[in-house]
Amino acid sequence: MVIFKKVGDLQEYLLKLRATDARHIGFIPTMGALHAGHISLLKRAKTDGTIAVASVFINPTQFNDPDDFRKYPVSIDEDIALLAKEGCDVLLLPTEAEVYPEGEQKMQAYGFGYLDSVLEGAQRPGHFKGVGQVVARLLNIVNPDFVYVGQKDYQQCIVIRNLIGLLGKENDINLVVCPTIREADGLAMSSRNKRLTEPQRAIAGLIYQCLVSIQAKQHDAMFSVVQKECIDLLSAKGFEPEYVSLADANDLTVMEYYDKNRKMVALVAARLGDVRLIDNMVIN
Ligand code: AMP
Repeated sequence: MVIFKKVGDLQEYLLKLRATDARHIGFIPTMGALHAGHISLLKRAKTDGTIAVASVFINPTQFNDPDDFRKYPVSIDEDIALLAKEGCDVLLLPTEAEVYPEGEQKMQAYGFGYLDSVLEGAQRPGHFKGVGQVVARLLNIVNPDFVYVGQKDYQQCIVIRNLIGLLGKENDINLVVCPTIREADGLAMSSRNKRLTEPQRAIAGLIYQCLVSIQAKQHDAMFSVVQKECIDLLSAKGFEPEYVSLADANDLTVMEYYDKNRKMVALVAARLGDVRLIDNMVIN
């Protein structure tokens, strides 16, 4: 695995590689503290036969909560070892100055309309603006043919799909959404899980159980009733639920009722202590 800290060096390397290597470039952007969820994206990139280019960069502009940024887990040595072991070809490890050479304020911002105002957009003001900035910059740096992202961050997948359109790259970049990788109790793997205490970790699988019950009850209950059950259950166990929602799986229009004629996704965000967890499930 070749590691680059300078954007210019990476670009030069990829340019030369493209001239001699017919394979496509598959890009896996991450914020590090890697786990099996991230590695599943890398494996998919390898299965697809791409030159796998990963990045590890904790993007400050997408953290609406400074505490979350400060406490974000870092394990760069382990990350490098894991990526190398799993066959990653190229790793970009840029500094903030490399990503935002003119300062983050000068970096163009993208708006995602409705998506900025619901669910994660509503709970984390400015979050998708930061995601848009960093992903646009990274796409321009790496110029990939395929981008691998996780369904775990459902709304982010739709935001990135829209961003690729806004950048006019919809014919050049193939966005590959990979399934959520879970722990044995259903908890979606996340870098933030490392910050859960043992008792918190013991109950964290409840979010997944809520998603399962939203799915299971879709034919014989009102969504509002199931939603309240989930909120009450999470609250009783010590979570602070932010939302338990149902939405159109294609455009994330929030829905008040189950509608079997639409593809639906259930989404949950809840805090456990000072750790914020999100998860989702396409239910039909
Ligand atoms: P992050 O490092 O949290 O920014 O995540 C980097 C990429 O890995 C994003 O596309 C995430 O959606 C994806 N990812 C994170 N957790 C999982 C998971 N449990 N299963 C699948 N993909 C994941």
